[in-house]
Amino acid sequence: CGIFAYLNYQVPRTRKEIFETLVKGLQRLEYRGYDSAGIAVDGPNKTTDINGNTICLIKKRGKVKALDEELYKKDTLDLDAKLNTHFGLAHTRWATHGEPSAVNSHPHRSDKDNEFVVIHNGIITNYKELREYLITKGYEFESETDTEVIPKLIKYVYDNRETDSITFSTLVERVIQQLEGAFALVFKSRHFPEEAVSTRRGSPLLIGVRSEHELSTEHIPIQYNSGELCFFFFPFCLAVEYYFASDASAIIEHTNKVLYLEDDDIAVVTGGKLSIHRINRQAGEDPVRAIQTLQ
Ligand code: GLU
Repeated sequence: CGIFAYLNYQVPRTRKEIFETLVKGLQRLEYRGYDSAGIAVDGPNKTTDINGNTICLIKKRGKVKALDEELYKKDTLDLDAKLNTHFGLAHTRWATHGEPSAVNSHPHRSDKDNEFVVIHNGIITNYKELREYLITKGYEFESETDTEVIPKLIKYVYDNRETDSITFSTLVERVIQQLEGAFALVFKSRHFPEEAVSTRRGSPLLIGVRSEHELSTEHIPIQYNSGELCFFFFPFCLAVEYYFASDASAIIEHTNKVLYLEDDDIAVVTGGKLSIHRINRQAGEDPVRAIQTLQ
């Protein structure tokens, strides 16, 4: 029922600081109600090689406080490790499909190696058809949720990609074209370390941007494939932090510079830069938006 994700780009943070930021984000969303909580962070061996670049999931039924305690029990995760660039996901769940339990809580994953992980708010109404299809293709499900079709589907698209140069954003775009229902989603992948992709339809999602340096609130439209416009928000600096949340209350303590996603927007952070484009755009619809300042 609550999404929070945090990307620090060229801003060194210890793993402990990252845990604290993620947990605080969830606590700000607690009022929305939830039955379980979970996070995804990079594992200890961070390299650009997928085999070395691991993702660690920690999930717990019950209160955020119970999850918080669980985070410090993993002795494989060095709390003092300084992570110069890192992307972490956090989620509080209000179960719609599948009982409240650790396995049903988010983040959900594509496979046992956590190649793709996702957090979701909302309901996927056509999950049964998708699930049956993916099972016929050999994908194994571990939870009873509607959400789990999403990480399985992105892995299916990735496994059947026609080119190795396919982007994370294109994978997500193909996935949401198959989804019906309401969703706010944030994706993380071992294949695309330090990249974030998020999107929404029906459920709310906004992105906060913070930098010690002057931020550009200007957008630079560029032509996207098939005539779509794509907007880049260039922070004029190397060091920048991004906060993804279902509610401004989780972001305001970090920054008042925010950008609200609209239906079918796909927001991507790669190399510290945020870009947004919208799929399924109606003729005449203007996708222009700018970073807003919260009062
Ligand atoms: N429908 C999803 C589930 O039951 C997401 C629920 C939520 O928004 O927390 O896991």
